[in-house]
Amino acid sequence: MTQITQLNRLGLFDAKVPRYTSYPTAPHFNTGVGPDDFANWITAIPQGDRISLYVHIPFCRRLCWFCACRTQGVQSDDPILNYITRLEKELQLLAQHLPQGVTLSQLHWGGGTPTILSPDAMTRLARAITQVAPFSPDYSFSVEIDPNEIDAARVRALVAAGMNRASLGIQDFDPEIQQAIGRPQGFEDTKLAFDMLRDHGITSINADLVYGLPHQTPQKLTNTVQKLMAMLPDRIALYGYAHVPWMARRQNLIDSDSLPSAQQRLTLFETARDLLKWDNYHDIGIDHFALPHDSMSTAASNRTLKRNFQGYTVDPADVLIGLGASSISKFPQGFAQNAAATSQYAQAIEAGTFATSRGHAMTTDDKMRAKIIESIMCHFDVKTAEILDNFDISRAQLYALFGQVNQHFEFMLDVTDQGLFIPERARPLTRMIAQKFDAYDPNAAKHSSAI
Ligand code: SF4
Repeated sequence: MTQITQLNRLGLFDAKVPRYTSYPTAPHFNTGVGPDDFANWITAIPQGDRISLYVHIPFCRRLCWFCACRTQGVQSDDPILNYITRLEKELQLLAQHLPQGVTLSQLHWGGGTPTILSPDAMTRLARAITQVAPFSPDYSFSVEIDPNEIDAARVRALVAAGMNRASLGIQDFDPEIQQAIGRPQGFEDTKLAFDMLRDHGITSINADLVYGLPHQTPQKLTNTVQKLMAMLPDRIALYGYAHVPWMARRQNLIDSDSLPSAQQRLTLFETARDLLKWDNYHDIGIDHFALPHDSMSTAASNRTLKRNFQGYTVDPADVLIGLGASSISKFPQGFAQNAAATSQYAQAIEAGTFATSRGHAMTTDDKMRAKIIESIMCHFDVKTAEILDNFDISRAQLYALFGQVNQHFEFMLDVTDQGLFIPERARPLTRMIAQKFDAYDPNAAKHSSAI
C-alpha cells in the first residue's frame, strides 16, 4: 500500500480540521469571559514579568480576495487615526491594571496592513506602547509589511521606534495566480522592500508563501520559491490556502474550480518543502522554515518553540496581550478576545472599559490537552514525562489515550515508554492527530482543509 493510499483511507484529503493556534480553538470561546476577567488576569501578572503584545490594525487600502483576516478597506486616513486614538485609550486602561516593572519581550503589529499607518502615526503608536511597558533587553519587535504599502519614511519611523524584525506577505509571484486571488504584487516591489529593510539594519526577515492557490502548479511554486530564496529570508511560513467563503465572503470571488485538489495540495507543499530543505532551511512544525542561525531553528531543537495566533513563536512570555478590534489575549488562566467589529470595540473603549466580548477560562483538563496539542504541532510528539510531571493523569490513563489515537491512525504512530511520536510518513496527518486530543465538538465550526 502506498503512503498516499493510506493517507487517503485515513481521510486526509477530505478532513477539515483546526490549525490549532490555540486550544480550545476560537470557535469554542464563549461570552462567559468579559472585561472584568480580562482586568483580573492582567492584575495577576507577576511584577517585573515579561509579556508579549500584539496590536491589530484592521485596515487595508485594497482587499485581497484570498484573505480571511479581520480587516476593512479604507481610502482616507481619518478612520485609521481615530483607531489609533482608541488604541492609546486601550493602552491607558492597560496601564491602570498592569503590575509594576512589566516589560515587553515581544511586540508584533499585524493586520490588516500595519504599514498603512503614516510615519507619524507609527511613531505615536509605538510611543504609547513603550510608555506603558518598555522593551526587555533582548526584545523582538516585528511588523507585517505589505510590499505595496511601504516606503523609506515608514521604514525609518519603524526602525526608530525599535522594529528589529519584519514579515513580508508574498503568497506567490506568478501573475496569473495573483490575478486569481485579487492581489497584484510585482516581484520588483517585493525585492525593493527586502532591500529597503536590510539597508535600514533589519537583519531578520520572514516571508509568507501560500500553497493551494488557484492555478498553482508545482512548476509555478518552484519558480516562486527559487525567486524568494535569492532574497534569503531568515524564516519562511508556507501556509495552506484556507478556502472558507462561508467565513470570508470575498473568497467567493475566487473560482473554486481553479483550486488544486487536496492531493495536489500535498504535492505542492512537499515540492516547496523539499526545495527549502535542499537549500539549508530547517523545517519547523507543520509549515515554517528557518535558516540554521535563526532563533526559531534553535527553539525547535531545544524544545522551547511555542504555538500562538501568529503560527509559531520563540517568545518566552506566558502572557500575550492582544490590543485592537478582534485581538485575542492569552493568559495562564485563559483566553480573552476583543469585540471583532471595529465599531463595537470603539464603543467599549470610549465608555472606559476593556472591549473583551468572549473568551475561555481554562480548566485543568484544558491545560493538559493544550500542552499535548502544542507539543504535537511544534515537535510531532508527546513526551510522557512532560505530561505526567505537570498534570494529574496516570501513566495508564495517558497510554490508554495514546493507544486510542494510534489505533485510529492504523498504528502509523510510534508509542514507546518515552511517549507518542509521529514518524515522517505520518506528518501530513499532524492536525488530524492533534484533533484526536481535542475534547470539544470538532463539528462546532467549519474548518479548513487538513492539508
Ligand atoms: S492580504 Fe494583507 S493587504 Fe490583502 S486583504 Fe489581507 S491583510 Fe489586507
